[in-house]
Amino acid sequence: MDIISLTLTELREALRRGETTSVAATQAMLDRIVALDNSLLSYLTITEEMALEQATAADQRRAAGEDTPLLGVPIALKDIICLSGAPTTAGSKILEGFNPPYNAFVVDRLLEAGAVILGKTNTDEFAMGSSTENSAYVTTRNPWDIERVPGGSSGGSAAAVAAGLAYGALGTDTGGSVRQPASFCGVVGIRPTYGRVSRWGVVAFASSLDQVGSFGRTAADVAAQLSVIAGHDPRDSTSLNIPVPDYEAALTGDIRGLRIGVPREYFVEGIEPDVEAAVRVAIDDLAALGAEIVEISLPHTQYGLPVYYLIASAEASANLARYDGTRFGPRAKGADMIDTVRQTRALFGPEVKRRIMLGAYALSAGYYDEYYGRALKVRTLIKEDFRRVFESVDVIAAPTSPATAFRVGERIDDPLNMYLADIFTLPLNLSASCGLSVPCGLDRQGLPIGLQLIGDTLQEARILNVAHTYEQARPRDRRLPAVPAGATG
Ligand code: GLN
Repeated sequence: MDIISLTLTELREALRRGETTSVAATQAMLDRIVALDNSLLSYLTITEEMALEQATAADQRRAAGEDTPLLGVPIALKDIICLSGAPTTAGSKILEGFNPPYNAFVVDRLLEAGAVILGKTNTDEFAMGSSTENSAYVTTRNPWDIERVPGGSSGGSAAAVAAGLAYGALGTDTGGSVRQPASFCGVVGIRPTYGRVSRWGVVAFASSLDQVGSFGRTAADVAAQLSVIAGHDPRDSTSLNIPVPDYEAALTGDIRGLRIGVPREYFVEGIEPDVEAAVRVAIDDLAALGAEIVEISLPHTQYGLPVYYLIASAEASANLARYDGTRFGPRAKGADMIDTVRQTRALFGPEVKRRIMLGAYALSAGYYDEYYGRALKVRTLIKEDFRRVFESVDVIAAPTSPATAFRVGERIDDPLNMYLADIFTLPLNLSASCGLSVPCGLDRQGLPIGLQLIGDTLQEARILNVAHTYEQARPRDRRLPAVPAGATG
């Protein structure tokens, strides 16, 4: 058995049948990380010792007859999710050396389910970005072409899963940071409904938009992780106290009669022809599987980008005020208190500073109504678009990103161009919907393309089933991308 090529759910079955052990799977991942991650740079921290201890414990528990949903399964965490016993940097120098004293809610859930934590994956600083180039540490590379970005901000998690350096991974999606890298790296990634997964212990970027999601090689792998991390947590006041369905049991492989809406605003000028063609073929495939395809309109789509950047930056400017050197991470040695804070905050990278300034400006007394207040009103219109459409369709199908993975360095000096990578993902975050990206082919350069499936509030099971049914009908080449070994500068 080639343990590397197993999906998360296949590994789980192999463990249940006693065909392999968690220690063997964990060691295989750790060896592969050593062999390939010099090229990919997907991990910031590898928690080798912790992982092998957890794997040994998982094997002992299984030998004692126990079974839990992820017992012995090695998983990676975006380095914005607190794991006690390892550093959490959020990709920033301002949190260098910060060791959180507690686990995030989602980490406790994973550990209760028996998962093994392999390490912390790279992210754009404070999850602000679409390529991981805003990480203060390294730029992760795309396993399909190491000259290209993996997408972002959860690019480390997406690249790790795509390259077989983890069986699953968690990320966060504030404006597209799970779906867009999933699309660029050819894996599945879900952004659940706001409130479905607790944000406790997750470094805050924009609190009304942030949500934790999972990556996997298949919809079933994503579902298995979501079943574990979803659920109520009284420590997050926005956490929903609503029962969690069994997402894996929802994968029936039957979508007959489902009404799938295709928004005309998502097929506009600027979308790469190969992306449009692949997404249209995928939509035809869904029709062949018995879904009814209807054209729909989300008329306020064009305002998604400016509204998102005003609201996300405003919230970020408030959330990031806490990094002043007195509580977390390094503290500069200034002449006095103000100078200390000023020098410490100079550790923020350029994109974070840009957002803090934009956000503080949008919230300032003279401009509050004109920018932030107006953005909130337009957010309501965008929400209404989705609510109205979901009165007549069950799922929306669209491209995840207008383009496939771009080259390292290509967009970094052009923030607007970088922001455009999320043009199709961020309207959802402004609404109360959920969404995922599932691979739907390669472009002529051999780079993955993602089909985005959007569901109404708490309809994660439905979109996962559409993705799963599509995967069954159009099985992908199971081979992992060939990542060259060797150091990347
Ligand atoms: N790329 C978007 C941004 O930079 C989304 C990031 C995210 O979802 N965390 O804000």
